[in-house]
Amino acid sequence: MNDSPAQESLHSRYGLTPLINAAGSFTPLGVSRSSAHVAHSAALALQSFFVMNELQALASDRLSAFSGCEAAAVTHCVSAAITQAVAACIAGTDAEAVANLPETKGRANAVVIPAGHCVNYGHPLVTDIRLAGATVIQAGTREACSLRNIEQALDQPGACCLLLVSSRLTTFQDLDTRGAVTAARTRGIPVVIDGAAQDMRIPDLLGTGADAVLVSAHKYLASPTAGLVLGTQAFVERFRAQETGIGRAMKPSKEAIVGVLAALEERQAMDPVAWRQQQDRKVVKAVALLGACTGIQASAEPDPVGMPFQRVRVRFLKGAAAARAVAQTLKAGNPSIWVMEHQLDQGAILLELVALSEEEVQQLVEAIGSAWTALASR
Ligand SMILES: *Cc1c(COP(=O)(O)O)cnc(C)c1O
Repeated sequence: MNDSPAQESLHSRYGLTPLINAAGSFTPLGVSRSSAHVAHSAALALQSFFVMNELQALASDRLSAFSGCEAAAVTHCVSAAITQAVAACIAGTDAEAVANLPETKGRANAVVIPAGHCVNYGHPLVTDIRLAGATVIQAGTREACSLRNIEQALDQPGACCLLLVSSRLTTFQDLDTRGAVTAARTRGIPVVIDGAAQDMRIPDLLGTGADAVLVSAHKYLASPTAGLVLGTQAFVERFRAQETGIGRAMKPSKEAIVGVLAALEERQAMDPVAWRQQQDRKVVKAVALLGACTGIQASAEPDPVGMPFQRVRVRFLKGAAAARAVAQTLKAGNPSIWVMEHQLDQGAILLELVALSEEEVQQLVEAIGSAWTALASR
């Protein structure tokens, strides 16, 4: 997760914009930075041949040991994993049905999803569902979804129930996830949870009883781009059966699978208490420095769904226009600094410091301070 000389030299070699990314595991900025062990392992993989099924089997064993699932598979990313998981629910292991997708030919193809989970994370999540030939049934409203809403939607022939767990994308956080999983499974409908950025909470999500949990390995695990499918033996078998159908376009690369193995080794060697303390130190320092600026309120915000780290909330007492102007100034600077912008309307920016070094945090805080001072003195 640290700066590497390689990163600097690529920016100068190709004349690319140098960045400080305080916006979290954000796709338009390249998501995460891998460690030297992950980068080296992926580089070795690029120079070798493998029996790809052997790599998938090894990843399944390692991911199962890591997360407590029965079986696992790697695919290109979570967007791909959603499509392939829906395909698995529609076609199963029936070779003809697999080959026919996205034409579903009389098979149950409805996917139930809470309306507030139909988010846009760069594109509409329902596009991932529809790509497999499925139709979407939205339960509840954008603002709320009760267990009764889910049950009503499930009371028609369906292929799958998809639920989302996300720190900032969903429009409400109070869905009874465990209840929804039980409601679907008692009706014989498999449940898939998109927990793309929840890699530190996989056992919690598997504990809901879902058939599969989907995780982006390139987010906090910081591997090359890869979508992890963690679930039951039967689900993973149906999932992998799609590789000879629409899954071909979603395949994981050898360097991605090897990078995932290396990232898992590092995660398992990590001391979670020490890691948390290291994250907290950066947050406490940034809050203290920013809170000392007149006109700014800084606070530490726990993750709303329980990932084990905090973000820094920086509220500008002058309101939304000031927050917007500061975010704009930061982006235009050198290095270009990106922050989380989903609370601009409340006059606030949020800073995620997980991927940043202490020096970068210092640079970030100084840049916010001077952008704010320039604005306030106008
Ligand atoms: C990041 C994210 C995705 C997309 O994941 P990719 O692996 O980048 O395709 C999907 N859903 C949620 C909730 C996410 O946070």
